[in-house]
Amino acid sequence: MENESLKYERQRDEMVRQQIESRGIINPSVLAALRNVPRHLFVSEALRDQAYGDFPLPIGEQQTISQPFIVAEMTQALELGKDDRVLEIGTGSGYQAAILAEIAYRVYTVERIRSLFLQARKLLDKLKYHNIVMRCADGTVGWEDESPFDAIIVTAGAPIIPESLVNQLTEGGRLVVPVGNQHSQDLIKITKDRRGIHQTNLGGCRFVKLVGKHGWSES
Ligand code: SAH
Repeated sequence: MENESLKYERQRDEMVRQQIESRGIINPSVLAALRNVPRHLFVSEALRDQAYGDFPLPIGEQQTISQPFIVAEMTQALELGKDDRVLEIGTGSGYQAAILAEIAYRVYTVERIRSLFLQARKLLDKLKYHNIVMRCADGTVGWEDESPFDAIIVTAGAPIIPESLVNQLTEGGRLVVPVGNQHSQDLIKITKDRRGIHQTNLGGCRFVKLVGKHGWSES
């Protein structure tokens, strides 16, 4: 077992050098988080040896764990500080939540599919991520009681920028969300300051759909 975890540690190192640093991700805390979090535990046993590949993988319920690079890119775009409180919509496997939890003060994450929520909760508890708070609900409405957040990340594709999430940002807050149709999206970054909202396009991406009140309908 010791050998096994060493093997995966080496694969993580290689992943960070070949897929992440080589493509321009430079934030040291993001790179350290990707080196620390055991991504292979966030996929089924049958897929473990593929966990550090340059692609997304299925996690059941027709959902996916994102490609490592997109996790790194979105996390860097959030410009997290160690005192920040972060909201994630779309817990899925819990991998992105773990990455955020390595960097920020507290992570609030919402998943709508009960089986994924339960599985992620079990794993994140086992890995002792005590600064992650989880909820099984429709995340498109945000998490009013815990708002405002310094950063919000949506890990499913939205038809429009969810207004409710923009409203739950602090002044100085950052929101990263894939916006587009059900086949492809643009990664949009919103920053909020005293004067209002600023929007930048970080480029094309492809996510499973965000389903809910301010997202797509179920079918
Ligand atoms: N961040 C995840 C990626 C999960 S894929 C990871 O690291 O593994 C996107 C997830 O968003 C899916 O699990 C899907 O069920 C969830 N999702 C879609 N719409 C949602 C909504 N309105 N609220 C909460 N979760 C949602």
